[in-house]
Amino acid sequence: MDPITDPGILGGYLTDASNLHGRAAALYRPRTAEEVAEILAECQRTGTSVTVTARRTSTTGAPVPDGGVLLSTERLDRLHALDDVDGGVLLGAYQAEVERAGRLFTPDPTSRNECSVGGAIACNASGARSFKYGPTRPWVDAVELVTPTGEIRWIDRTTPLPWPVPQWAEPAVKTAAGYYPATNLLDLVIGAEGTLGVVTRARLKLLPLPTAVLTVFTYFPDRASLLAFVAVARTMGPRCIESFDRHALDLIRGRVPDVPVAHAALLLEIEHDGDAPLDAWFDALAAHAALLDDTIVAEDDAGRARLHAVRHALPATVNEIIARNGVQKVGTDFAVPAAALAEMMDAYEQPDMATVCFGHMGDSHLHLNFLPKDADELAEARRRYLALAKKAVSLGGTVSAEHGIGRLKKAHLALMVPPTVLDGWRAVKRAADPAWVLGRGVMFDP
Ligand SMILES: Cc1cc2nc3c(=O)[nH]c(=O)nc-3n(C[C@H](O)[C@H](O)[C@H](O)COP(=O)(O)OP(=O)(O)OC[C@H]3O[C@@H](n4cnc5c(N)ncnc54)[C@H](O)[C@@H]3O)c2cc1C
Repeated sequence: MDPITDPGILGGYLTDASNLHGRAAALYRPRTAEEVAEILAECQRTGTSVTVTARRTSTTGAPVPDGGVLLSTERLDRLHALDDVDGGVLLGAYQAEVERAGRLFTPDPTSRNECSVGGAIACNASGARSFKYGPTRPWVDAVELVTPTGEIRWIDRTTPLPWPVPQWAEPAVKTAAGYYPATNLLDLVIGAEGTLGVVTRARLKLLPLPTAVLTVFTYFPDRASLLAFVAVARTMGPRCIESFDRHALDLIRGRVPDVPVAHAALLLEIEHDGDAPLDAWFDALAAHAALLDDTIVAEDDAGRARLHAVRHALPATVNEIIARNGVQKVGTDFAVPAAALAEMMDAYEQPDMATVCFGHMGDSHLHLNFLPKDADELAEARRRYLALAKKAVSLGGTVSAEHGIGRLKKAHLALMVPPTVLDGWRAVKRAADPAWVLGRGVMFDP
């Protein structure tokens, strides 16, 4: 395959949603696993670093190259069967196809209409529905993997680990930080952020589409009522409990009129068999001082899509502000045990800095986004981020619940993972990728 070296084309591939900028000598856009294998074998032979880039929605600099060559998955774009799809296919387009056939592929990162299936597998992405269904991992049955040495193989949960993998105790929360303490090769590759191979194709697990989904967007006057309601809501079986703090509501109000002034809001989704459990939910809301007159209920897909658009507008608006201010993103991705959520929310209060906090409250996983205006504020935001990361770890939480480590969060991973485990991962990486060419500089360094 001839590489593309035209700077006009390459320029479109050198950054991601974190706004980190990189450099690369060339770009490959393979169409088949064989072409991917040829590129990787050659790079392994010459010791040239290869960064896999998909749709570049990563918020951690993971697909941003630091020299070497780029391997884009965009042309690995075929749907082979409803549950068998190439790694470069757009996740949202794939899900729409699956849903037209009455099935559900549950992983739903907010970025699903911009990110790829392979990117979601590489990052073990989560989303709002992960509260009920977990992250991407359990919904992947097998992948076609091109190894860093250029071998093509299908792997599944019967594929043994070729090397010992540290069996470390991950925090008991939703987490996507570091290599999984896997007992088979598939589980190790899922969430390895593209450092152990290229996912060219995947066989996925689908569910029947739920008969109906009730969506509720509601507001709370204070923290105590909000948290008391969330504790009850967790026991009522919704598929998501998403939250928005008052600053997030201010941003939403800029795009959607009639958003009331409130302490916080929640978006809930409840699957049901056709008989919407409205009374039970309204009773619970009323018992916890929710602002019932302002509560919006959507009983159909179109109404849910409108509320989702509001939810999705938030991270996109934050990313736009960051890019406009010419700074990099400083946004937390910590999850903590439910019992520590209130303490973590206290720590997220930053009265003297512009922030927005929203996210997956069901999983005690909130994104506090700093909105620095200049380099000084950026440096201050990073200092505070580090203190918050230490706090999350001290509470038994994770430094990344879903976005991964990438290039920007390596120091934070080391706060949570013992040096012996990091050394064990380095040994795995060296065994899989002797010249350390794939995703060099991602997750941890040699
Ligand atoms: C607005 C917004 C909202 C987001 N919301 C969520 C969310 O709710 N939940 C969540 O988990 N994440 C979220 N993210 C982060 C991001 O969307 C996900 O991590 C996504 O899975 C990345 O997919 P991508 O195709 O863009 O991959 P990229 O960003 O291009 O790459 C990400 C990493 O995966 C590797 N990679 C990509 N494809 C492959 C492949 N086929 N084989 C091997 N390695 C590969 C890359 O090398 C890189 O290390 C959000 C991002 C944005 C911008």
